[in-house]
Amino acid sequence: MSTRIRSFEVLVSAPSRNFVTVRITTDDGVVGLGDATLNGRELAVVAYLREHVAALMIGRDALRIEDTWQFLYRSAYWRRGPVTMSAIAAVDMALWDITGRIAGMPVYQLLGGASRDGVLCYAHAAGNDLDALAEAVRQRQQEGFRAIRLQVAVPGMAAGYGVQKGARRGERYAYEPATRAGLSVEQGWDARAYLSYLPHVFEQMRGEFGAGPMFLHDAHHRLTPIQAARLGASLEPYDLFWLEDVTPVDNPEALRLVREHTTTPLAIGEVLNTVWDFRTLVQEQLIDYVRASVTHAGGITHLKRIFEFAAMYQVKSGSHGPTDISPVGMAAALHLDLAIHNFGMQEYMQHDPRVGEVFRTSYTFDDGMLHPGDAPGLGVDYDDEAAAGFPYAPAYLPAARLADGTAHEW
Ligand SMILES: [Mg+2]
Repeated sequence: MSTRIRSFEVLVSAPSRNFVTVRITTDDGVVGLGDATLNGRELAVVAYLREHVAALMIGRDALRIEDTWQFLYRSAYWRRGPVTMSAIAAVDMALWDITGRIAGMPVYQLLGGASRDGVLCYAHAAGNDLDALAEAVRQRQQEGFRAIRLQVAVPGMAAGYGVQKGARRGERYAYEPATRAGLSVEQGWDARAYLSYLPHVFEQMRGEFGAGPMFLHDAHHRLTPIQAARLGASLEPYDLFWLEDVTPVDNPEALRLVREHTTTPLAIGEVLNTVWDFRTLVQEQLIDYVRASVTHAGGITHLKRIFEFAAMYQVKSGSHGPTDISPVGMAAALHLDLAIHNFGMQEYMQHDPRVGEVFRTSYTFDDGMLHPGDAPGLGVDYDDEAAAGFPYAPAYLPAARLADGTAHEW
């Protein structure tokens, strides 16, 4: 048996949106897949992998997962950041996939086996007004979701985060923020209007749906610390499962002030890449959920390290799972979610049906829970023929501005 790496490919396809996939093949023909999709900056990671990683991988032993992670992290000299950590993540996932396929076991078994029966996940619901939001919540409940993230357009504001402007009532909700074939769409932002409106939104939704469903909300980095403190305090009566990304996380110490004022659980971390980025947030217990991404935080090997570090401080996990995480990244997250002890919640923003033509997955959704399945490895296959029908097209995430034109966090 030869587990040496024979080929290293970087595949780009866009079934409804862009995905970057690493495919590693061993001398014996065992194939592993990894997700390297960095939404809106996809080709930076493609170049990193093709120009600077591929040659280093040929001839290496695919089973040396930890050593390869440490080699790629340390030998680059220039550390951290989303491009580097997404590239390393994709290689790492592909090597776990190969190891599982050789062992004939799903990756979660290699990570210590299942710690639970399934992975609790939350869906997105959004509306341009409260009636449309309630309708979206009902749809998600009918699909079986027990946990739902609520986003709504704020009256008087041109657009809000997570809300598809112009979506017709009753239309299946498929929010995809990255705009294809064009530059960033600019949206307005008014924190005063948002802070006054949000408690009313959750009061209405609790009134309509009762205490049962788990509700979440994403502030998407748009608030100052004192604004975030006010939002958390004002939402306390409505029992959020978590409030996500209340402030930009460049300054983790800012969360101290938020924490002094509210017991609403906080989740942060989708733009962070390494365990070191989480040190202050976790050690000072400034958050309740490390909400990180397997695709942008160094793959299964490193995200497991982040989650286990968080576990020492009674901080739980929250795996990032929007549509810009490919089905390969989604599967990798699910294997880890199932295996770790301090699991919290997995985001599940279902992919467009075209994605399933390129990526054949074995994960399943039932009664509000996901399961990665028991196929060997990650359980995802890539269809080259289908992918050829979906070429890359540039796409940009939106930008936000205040009423006077000042650039703001989107
Ligand atoms: Mg988010």
